[in-house]
Amino acid sequence: MSSGPKIPQERKVVTAIPGPKSQEVIKRRSEAVSAALGMAIPVVVEKAGGGVIVDIDGNSIIDMGAGIAVVNVGNSADRVVKNVKEQVEAFTHTCFMIAPYMGYIEVCEALNRLTPGTHKKKSALFNSGAEAVENAVKIARKFTKRQAVVVFEHGYHGRTNLTMAMTAKNIPYKDGFGPFTPEVFRMPMAYPYRCDSCSSSCENSILNTVIHKIEKEIGANNVACIVIEPILGEGGFIVPCKGFLPGLVKFCNENGILFVADEVQTGFARTGQMFACEDEGIVPDLITTAKGIAGGLPLAAVTGRAEIMDSIHASGLGGTFGGSPIACAAALGAIATIEEEKLVDRAKEIGKIMSDALNEMKKKYPIIGDVRGRGAMQAIELVKPGTKDPNPESQAAIIKYCQQKGVLILSAGTYGNVIRLIPPLVIPEHLLKEALEILDEAVSKA
Ligand SMILES: *Cc1c(COP(=O)(O)O)cnc(C)c1O
Repeated sequence: MSSGPKIPQERKVVTAIPGPKSQEVIKRRSEAVSAALGMAIPVVVEKAGGGVIVDIDGNSIIDMGAGIAVVNVGNSADRVVKNVKEQVEAFTHTCFMIAPYMGYIEVCEALNRLTPGTHKKKSALFNSGAEAVENAVKIARKFTKRQAVVVFEHGYHGRTNLTMAMTAKNIPYKDGFGPFTPEVFRMPMAYPYRCDSCSSSCENSILNTVIHKIEKEIGANNVACIVIEPILGEGGFIVPCKGFLPGLVKFCNENGILFVADEVQTGFARTGQMFACEDEGIVPDLITTAKGIAGGLPLAAVTGRAEIMDSIHASGLGGTFGGSPIACAAALGAIATIEEEKLVDRAKEIGKIMSDALNEMKKKYPIIGDVRGRGAMQAIELVKPGTKDPNPESQAAIIKYCQQKGVLILSAGTYGNVIRLIPPLVIPEHLLKEALEILDEAVSKA
């Protein structure tokens, strides 16, 4: 592997997890940091790269989470580090709205080139996924002169007020944080594993329900945009049935509604395509990106049809830090890494290794109800054997077991019963396989 810091690519557990040094720092953490912040694994990071995270006790942990699908190119990837160093030395901030710079423009050019569709596109840059989603809604409302926003069950779009309203799950994201912004309408989601009609002609029934509800309950002529993740991330890697997304796009096109693909988690090679929309050849009017865009630096974007992006009045969009020159330099390094190291293809290969292993596990262990995902974004849904009742207890036990063995895996799912695998796309194959073996062991014991 050519990328990343030269950290030995091995799993090595030298203390209990957390080790004594991590335990001490975590005590300080609880004194200094709000108790509201979660912690998936109680170890303190010293360095990370390739497929591992090394903690301050010297444990080397296989990273199956990539910081929530962020370090697709690995931590401290060579091109990211080089570009960031050069940029920090040249200048750190002017504010793009005050005095523009090259990196911002080049990131927009790259996004316009890489996102689905051959039409003329333009982009605007922001700081976080939630901010990108908020801006997509602002743009859609202004362009269409309509207010209603349609979202879906199990969807996740962020933690700001508007995106909380758009996010489905109450605990932990929304509980007690209301009132939420009005004019956000949630529709049923095509969730094949939990859809009664799915055995027959699933896509039409849910799609028709959604269209019927929009027409009868909101009025299609009041809808500014439909916002959906092409594969639901936090909701549990739900892959909608074939035809669902194209059906929504068609409905949008026929009714002057903008189709907004929230590719914050699915974007940048994760699914074995640069963007997940490519799978069914759908072309969104607007696409939001963030997580995997800049190799770990905070950056987000809205990219869309030029006439839509240009319909906003001058200075109607922006922000002090949005499209920071440092984050843009990192993004150009990350995008070059994805293209030059062919990480789109690599995501497909990683996906096959993971889904083969997970499907083998499903044959052996009746607590695995479903295996799903695309590319390097795969998940298992855990149930009580012989039923589809969610099994969150097993999820917690499996994650804990893996941690003790030096493998970091992440949870997901509305019912807290999904385990998602989203490793860096530069993870060495032997570590990927080792992590899957340990996961197998963990499931066998759960
Ligand atoms: C993570 C995520 C967001 C929010 O991104 P932040 O950078 O955390 O604000 C929005 N949409 C999707 C699909 C996400 O996965």
